[in-house]
Amino acid sequence: MGKLSNESTVAIVGAGVAGLRCAIELQERGLKPIIFEASDRVGGRIKTDQFHEFKLDRGFQVLLTAYDECRSVLDYDELDLGCFEPGAIVWTGSKFAQITDPWRRPASFFRSARSPIGSLNDKLKIANLRQRLTRKSNEEIYATSKDEPTFAYLHELGYSEGFINSFLRPFYGGIFLEPDLRTSRIMFDFVFKMFAQGYAALPRGGMERIPLQLASKLPKNAIRFNAPVEKLKGHTITLEDGSKVFPDHTVVATDMSAAASLSGNATIDRGWNRTSCLYFSTEPSPFKKPCIALNGSGLGKITNIAVPSDAAAGYSSSDASLICVSTEGAGSLAEIESELKTWFGPNASAFRFLKRYDILQALPRQQPGDNGYGKHPSRLGPNLWICGDHRFSASIEGAMASGRHVAEAICQELGK
Ligand SMILES: Cc1cc2nc3c(=O)[nH]c(=O)nc-3n(C[C@H](O)[C@H](O)[C@H](O)COP(=O)(O)OP(=O)(O)OC[C@H]3O[C@@H](n4cnc5c(N)ncnc54)[C@H](O)[C@@H]3O)c2cc1C
Repeated sequence: MGKLSNESTVAIVGAGVAGLRCAIELQERGLKPIIFEASDRVGGRIKTDQFHEFKLDRGFQVLLTAYDECRSVLDYDELDLGCFEPGAIVWTGSKFAQITDPWRRPASFFRSARSPIGSLNDKLKIANLRQRLTRKSNEEIYATSKDEPTFAYLHELGYSEGFINSFLRPFYGGIFLEPDLRTSRIMFDFVFKMFAQGYAALPRGGMERIPLQLASKLPKNAIRFNAPVEKLKGHTITLEDGSKVFPDHTVVATDMSAAASLSGNATIDRGWNRTSCLYFSTEPSPFKKPCIALNGSGLGKITNIAVPSDAAAGYSSSDASLICVSTEGAGSLAEIESELKTWFGPNASAFRFLKRYDILQALPRQQPGDNGYGKHPSRLGPNLWICGDHRFSASIEGAMASGRHVAEAICQELGK
């Protein structure tokens, strides 16, 4: 491998959704980017494994249908999205309580007002926040000057301790993958707005359909698999097999830790939030509707439980339901099974364990001061660029927006 052809002046390292989105934008503007991907498939942290009759995502993830960048580039109809019910059910330690979304399920208004989770004051505050945030653009949210940890922000907004602990902490802790809610309030506002304006959805064929759909927009030879990049220096990319490539511009679209090591800039790596995910099957589903169940009891390791096969039929090709249990820290299988018995009683004995995923590098930490949201420079050197969820927001949306921004900046430089 030597000099790339005349048109292929941009090389991208990494075929996660950031690298793929970057390549699509470059291609749409007349360039022919090439991606070097270390593994044998696209998707990075968004992968789905076939396991017997089930599709197992590597960690519970959802696409929020309100994501702007995703809506603009993904074909939601082709993804055949199945949605979870808005709101959640909350395990209180002794029973399940429902939190519905009266804006999208008006018939549930009275049930929601009477729900034991949160006082009337808490519910009015949620309504106010919803009104305030849905009037703002994402850019206005990102530009918020006073950043602070989410837990401090929620206290400032005046939510009761009970509501924070039984609903807001398990809900957002499960999204941020950290129960202490140290994550930036900008991220909270952004995610809150996305949940207010859309649904949490799963593609019928599993989350990996998202990067696969992006990859299908690129020519087959635009991605070189099993091609880990070892070193970047000036215009030279050195692959692990020793071969060299000399693009005009290089975009580092790897995960945060690999980006820090490839660029020689340790400050890029600000630490990770981890999660574990255990899959079980049972028949029938333990829930009546496709919903996300939160652990509002303050006890145990389980953060949330979802039944992907209730939301999107493709997750199970038999009558069996697929249960996804997300946990904080790595509890043993015996611990989780015993906790499931407190949630579901004797029905839990019928849950058959399938597989577990321990994901140590799930989400880049995003605390106040860590910034992101386009505030980090996307240029590391005269011909070296960087994108990924760690530059924007720790989400599919953030990764893709970051990829597009870098492509636009390169095109501006090249007059494309
Ligand atoms: C368990 C879990 C739950 C999540 N939940 C949600 C959710 O519900 N909603 C949401 O929006 N987001 C969620 N996310 C976050 C979302 O998946 C990520 O933000 C997004 O996928 C990151 O994409 P990326 O392209 O920036 O990075 P990555 O997906 O990490 O892609 C980087 C790519 O670079 C490749 N690479 C690394 N080093 C090299 C090298 N040296 N040479 C060549 N290639 C290299 C990797 O193999 C990989 O393919 C979740 C993530 C996890 C793990």
